Amino acid sequence: MTNSQTLEIFKKTDALLEGHFLLTSGKHSNKYFQCAQVLQYPLYLNKICTVIVDHIKAAQIDTVISPAIGGICVGQEVARLLNKRFIFAEREDNKMTLRRGFNLSKGEKVLICEDVITTGGSVYEVINIIKNNEADLVGVASIVDRSNGKVKFDAPQFSVLTLDVVTYFPDDCPLCKENIPLVKPGSRKKK
Ligand code: ZN
Repeated sequence: MTNSQTLEIFKKTDALLEGHFLLTSGKHSNKYFQCAQVLQYPLYLNKICTVIVDHIKAAQIDTVISPAIGGICVGQEVARLLNKRFIFAEREDNKMTLRRGFNLSKGEKVLICEDVITTGGSVYEVINIIKNNEADLVGVASIVDRSNGKVKFDAPQFSVLTLDVVTYFPDDCPLCKENIPLVKPGSRKKK
């Protein structure tokens, strides 16, 4: 699947909206991205995760791990395609941890899968879990890197899509000056 085909899927499923948006930060933006919108559809999840698997298939992987919640279905699908074990980390008392009897062994080769990388916070915490268990981090794969390439993990890194989202302060917003109606994402009516 090419980059433009991936973009087409994101637009078709309303995961990627283009226009003039009010973000929770109060800033305005030309794009709005909600990954869960595309992940509703198993066929698209499969197509997108196949891009990840095609990219990493040469790597030796024992286990796929994801931070809850957004990364879970991505990691599960990548693990299914690779026929490898899948586990997830979740927050307990605000600290990312392995629960439910999940564990990692010394020397186990681990791939992290995430839906969207913004600041990389959850992924860094999962990297710590891997280190604390003396397992080996093989790489980090995500559907979207919206950090504009700024977040760098100390491991091979792959994103299906890199999004360049431009944000503006309200009093300095060119979209406002063009009188394009401002939309609050989520308030949009169903078609
Ligand atoms: Zn504006």
